[in-house]
Amino acid sequence: MPRWFWAHAVELAGAVLVAANLVWVLVGLEHEWSYPVIGWLTLPVGGALATYACWKAARDPRTRRFWRHFTLAGVFFTAGTVGNTIDAVGGPQPSQLISPVTVGFYLAVLALVLWALLRLPSWQRSRADWTRFGLDALMVLITVGAIVWHLTLRDHQRWVTQTGSAASMLAIMLVACLGTATFVKVGFAGAGGLDRRAIHILAGGCALSSALGGLSPFLSPLPYLSSSLLAVPVAALTINLAAHRHARSGPRVPAARRPTRKITILPYVAVAVTDVLLLSTGTGDPVETTAMQIVAVALTALVVVRQILALRDNQRLLGTVDAHLDELHRYQDKLTHQATHDSLTGLVNRAMLERHVEGLLADGARFHVALLDLDDFKVVNDRLGHHVGDQLINVTARRLAEIAGERTLVARLGGDEFTLVLPGSEDVEILLARVIETVGAPADLDGQVVLTAASVGVTTSRPGDVPAELLRRADVAMYAAKSAGGGVRHWFDPAMDEAADDAARLAAELRRALPEGQLFPLYQPIIALPGGEPIGAEVLLRWQHPDRGLLGPDTFIPLAEANGFIVELGRWVLEQAVRQAVEWRDRLGDRAPKRISVNVSARQLEDPRFVDQVAALLAESGLAPEILMLEVTETAVLAADLAVEQLHRLKALGLRIALDDFGTGHSSLSLLMDCPVDVLKVDKSFVSGATAGRAGAIIVNNLIGFTDDFGIDAVAEGVETAAQAARLHEAGYRFAQGYLFGRPMSAAALEDLLTVTASAAA
Ligand code: C2E
Ligand code: CA
Ligand code: CA
Repeated sequence: MPRWFWAHAVELAGAVLVAANLVWVLVGLEHEWSYPVIGWLTLPVGGALATYACWKAARDPRTRRFWRHFTLAGVFFTAGTVGNTIDAVGGPQPSQLISPVTVGFYLAVLALVLWALLRLPSWQRSRADWTRFGLDALMVLITVGAIVWHLTLRDHQRWVTQTGSAASMLAIMLVACLGTATFVKVGFAGAGGLDRRAIHILAGGCALSSALGGLSPFLSPLPYLSSSLLAVPVAALTINLAAHRHARSGPRVPAARRPTRKITILPYVAVAVTDVLLLSTGTGDPVETTAMQIVAVALTALVVVRQILALRDNQRLLGTVDAHLDELHRYQDKLTHQATHDSLTGLVNRAMLERHVEGLLADGARFHVALLDLDDFKVVNDRLGHHVGDQLINVTARRLAEIAGERTLVARLGGDEFTLVLPGSEDVEILLARVIETVGAPADLDGQVVLTAASVGVTTSRPGDVPAELLRRADVAMYAAKSAGGGVRHWFDPAMDEAADDAARLAAELRRALPEGQLFPLYQPIIALPGGEPIGAEVLLRWQHPDRGLLGPDTFIPLAEANGFIVELGRWVLEQAVRQAVEWRDRLGDRAPKRISVNVSARQLEDPRFVDQVAALLAESGLAPEILMLEVTETAVLAADLAVEQLHRLKALGLRIALDDFGTGHSSLSLLMDCPVDVLKVDKSFVSGATAGRAGAIIVNNLIGFTDDFGIDAVAEGVETAAQAARLHEAGYRFAQGYLFGRPMSAAALEDLLTVTASAAA
């Protein structure tokens, strides 16, 4: 026997039973069977086979509960077939009577099946769903009842009175029809893990066996036959096939529930059927006509209720759809806003700005793009905290928006960078002057008055521009404004691009300059007032560039700071200074400079290894640490995160610390409290040049007063004339540095100077 046969043996057996009974009944129509019990024997066998199939299908964990209910139903079903057999052939004469016990079993089967169906997780949930289902079920019952009555029972009054089975049979058939309707419904709604084809088989089988049941009255002249002989094996085979079908379907993702159709044709079919029945009953029997009319009216009423419910449902559905759409739109608006606006200030963001600029460029408009960056924002952020920084950004945003007016777009690019897009017709100069003035006004943030300035770079659109290029030019111009000291606006100039290119080239050359020996230190004497005898020297770097000649540190130190090379370069300078100091000490003894000052950048202070490197250098060379003085600027201390802590560690090593260029940066006296400062270097702008007037004098005088209070030495920088030296000495300064006493010079030249002053003193 092929494998296929064994796999389908149970189904085949069920089918053979149905075929056998069909033959039995067909032959029985013409030939009276003397042993009618034989025809009944197949019924319990079919029931048992169906039960077995359901029990096997219940192994599938997803639908276990459903098939367990069916297994139980199968047991009742088999019991019902036994009862049915006894009713028919248990007595002395074959009978078509169905006893209440048998009816009970069959109804229990149907009830279990309905229960199993209604408990499937995938359908009817809401009360409205249940109501709709109830109405549909009522319609099915009324319609089928009317049909059955019309087609069979009506014409078989004799059978009805003889067997007394009319009511039971009607009940079984109606419930079977209800089962059919439910199967159909579940088939449409989707049945979770249940195989859809299995449901369809059950629906079809249920309908067929209920229709076969309706044949009973026609068999009334042949008491040894019964409609059960066909209806029951068909029902058994149906369950058998469905269970196998499901067991074979294998694990599969349940099909997504299809949206239930809001308009079903069921009510219309029901009305149509009753209308046909109403017409076909004719006017013969008034009772019957009345009954049919009542049925028609009842059905019409049900249909109306059903339609009203559907209408209300639809309206409610429309309402929710509207609400969802509204919500969706609001959400969409919010997303668009978020995508195009800056969350902190509510200003337009970079993406939106670029779109706007693109639009203007596409229109061929002439306009200006101004990039604004706050000066020293990082210092505010670090010293006063991020929330104050955020407030400053917000205040600036508000100020910009107020000045801008309607025709100017204000955007925030991130950080402390803002962009203004101004129409070409606008008087840009006046507007930008107001911007710089307004943004630079003191801002009260959380009770702290913060002063900032803004640097602005401006450029005008050209044909063929793209947003990125415009922003780049504004950026270059902004950096030029920053380099000029900040608080000003610069227009973009093509020379700036060249300068930027040039700077990039120079930065690359600087890395090679160190190993190639193009860099060397000079030493500028620091002297004691009033006599001018050198007490120390500051190391100042120079670059002998092969093409450009001798370059001062202002041209290349900022480049090295920008690309980080300063860390390596700074270490090299320190090594040179220490080596030179050791040599002087060994060779000159007492005449050697008491102090060697080395400039240290923010980037070096930020490097956590810095202190250890200095300590190692001192240990290796054997140089006394107090000889070495490190000069740091206020800005470097404020900019580097670890600065104050590192300075304390350096101080602990025995080094001396000088605060360089004092008075030029964001001077805050509190820094003097935090930092272990030994020396204050008063910037040359206070000593000479621009601020040498009354204000400069006042500052110079006051500074010396408080360095005394703090026990700090003051060194006046940039002393060029004897008059300045005299005034400084009079004000109380004891140390100075400047061209008057000596320019930055070679080590040998400094040695000579030391020798000259030493012999002069002698
Ligand atoms: P700085 O530390 O303030 O150095 C003093 C600057 O003033 C030097 O300029 C010096 O030549 C100049 N100077 C001294 N006396 C006078 C004077 O009487 N009149 C005028 N007008 N200027 C005077 P230099 O050598 O061009 O150095 C500029 C800056 O470069 C230095 O300013 C310092 O900040 C930085 N620098 C120099 N060498 C190094 C270095 O090795 N490392 C780091 N990080 N920075 C360095
Ligand atoms: Ca210095
Ligand atoms: Ca200085």
